[in-house]
Amino acid sequence: MDKSKIKILVLGAGISGLSTAFWLNNDGFDLTVLEAKNEPGGSMETRRKDGFLIDYGPNSGLETTPLIGQIVEEVGLKNEMIYASETANKRYILKNNRLYALPTGPAAFLKTGLFSTKAKLRLLAEPFIGKSEDGYYQSISEFVKRRLGQEFLDYAINPFVAGVFAGNPDQLSVQSAFPKLYRLEELYGGLVKGLILGARERKKQAETSKQHARLFSFKNGMQDLPKAIANKLGDKVKYNCRVEKIMKFKDKFKVLYNQGGSPEENIADIVLSTIPAYTAASIFSDFDTTLLNHLNEIYYPPVKVLYLGFRKDSIGQPLDGFGFLIPEKEKKPFLGAIFSSTIFPYRAKENLAAFTLFIGGARSPELLEKENERLVNRVLLEFKEIMKIDVKEDPTFIEERMWPKGIPQYTLGYIEHERYFEKFELDNSGIFLGGNYRGGISVGDCIKNSEITHQRIKAFINKKG
Ligand SMILES: Cc1cc2nc3c(=O)[nH]c(=O)nc-3n(C[C@H](O)[C@H](O)[C@H](O)COP(=O)(O)OP(=O)(O)OC[C@H]3O[C@@H](n4cnc5c(N)ncnc54)[C@H](O)[C@@H]3O)c2cc1C
Repeated sequence: MDKSKIKILVLGAGISGLSTAFWLNNDGFDLTVLEAKNEPGGSMETRRKDGFLIDYGPNSGLETTPLIGQIVEEVGLKNEMIYASETANKRYILKNNRLYALPTGPAAFLKTGLFSTKAKLRLLAEPFIGKSEDGYYQSISEFVKRRLGQEFLDYAINPFVAGVFAGNPDQLSVQSAFPKLYRLEELYGGLVKGLILGARERKKQAETSKQHARLFSFKNGMQDLPKAIANKLGDKVKYNCRVEKIMKFKDKFKVLYNQGGSPEENIADIVLSTIPAYTAASIFSDFDTTLLNHLNEIYYPPVKVLYLGFRKDSIGQPLDGFGFLIPEKEKKPFLGAIFSSTIFPYRAKENLAAFTLFIGGARSPELLEKENERLVNRVLLEFKEIMKIDVKEDPTFIEERMWPKGIPQYTLGYIEHERYFEKFELDNSGIFLGGNYRGGISVGDCIKNSEITHQRIKAFINKKG
């Protein structure tokens, strides 16, 4: 088989599309990546402004798989990779307008004022609680409340889900959104038992649990990684190319796209789509309406990122952590804040501190429909109170970024989408659906799934002969 004769088109130059393209390119296949924007990265978007380094999307990734180190090394970015300072291990939760450090060990857990004695005692019952039924139709809230109690749900998991998915634990399927958590119950009969026994299993597989994985970024921000991958792919990545339609064409596929205003087309043996589900829906409209329904049903709530700079000496609250998350019960107009310049160096000038705040998400999308100036002022006021900044102190820097469709939510019954995507790929051999609406939304999961997709594509080609 002459590999260079197999034509592969990858749609989207976010981390999912680029990682798979990088590995396929290393294998020697004829490959083109079509990207609508004029730069690589998708959600991984970084800018420099007034001495601040702003990540509008992910601020960091968790190094949960050795694949991350491998790809970083292969694209020549190893010297640019940085790890979060030790300080970032501390994570705060807001309760009654006070920040409590999330306990990281049994002694701290017993002492913390974040949970009542009743809630602490309730945790002791966890190993004795039996398994549940179908995790695909069980919400994270139901799962956590049953295993760990209401208070743990309200003051640990609810804010955590807002921090990861900008999501609402009542709406998300525990098995689709947090498969590893659900597996602890399925395999080991409980979370405590599972954490102990699961650690041994991970050691064998060279995987790192999310609690122990190191938090990474790059000196010039998260977009460095997709930029370096795209750089290696050179002119195989085509920018300003908005894909509009895919059609079957004999035993191949015809992809129609718009390149800077002019209509173009490309014929391919294999198409890997990594564009968001809502865009993929219109592109695949010629295939079948069931696929469209599945893709269109995936909910991407809006999220606003508010990036703030303050003089360090105006802040009363110690900047000794990753940041804080806000439980829904606290009724604040934002989800939490990351202490961006504490976690990584090079984020702000010496005398300034940088913060990234998140507003809206699935918890409160309606907030983002309100008048923006009033919303931002309200958030600023609350933020200053929490961080013990004088109410009259103005931020030295404000930057806003709206993601009208932020992160896909793996809602109850998401398995129906997953099963249909598998069926669709079987019925339409040569088409592969990837991206963050399949198999995990974190940068680490996207890279892991990209390698799985790479292997699936190779297996498909080998089978074809
Ligand atoms: C605000 C925010 C904060 C986040 N924070 C974190 C974090 O801290 N840690 C973490 O691990 N993850 C975080 N994530 C999640 C993570 O960044 C994403 O899930 C991941 O980057 C998605 O990568 P992707 O390649 O699958 O999709 P995308 O990045 O969405 O890439 C898809 C690409 O397809 C392109 N495209 C779209 N339509 C077309 C078309 N018609 N034709 C051609 N190209 C098209 C887009 O321009 C884009 O470049 C965050 C996400 C957001 C939005």
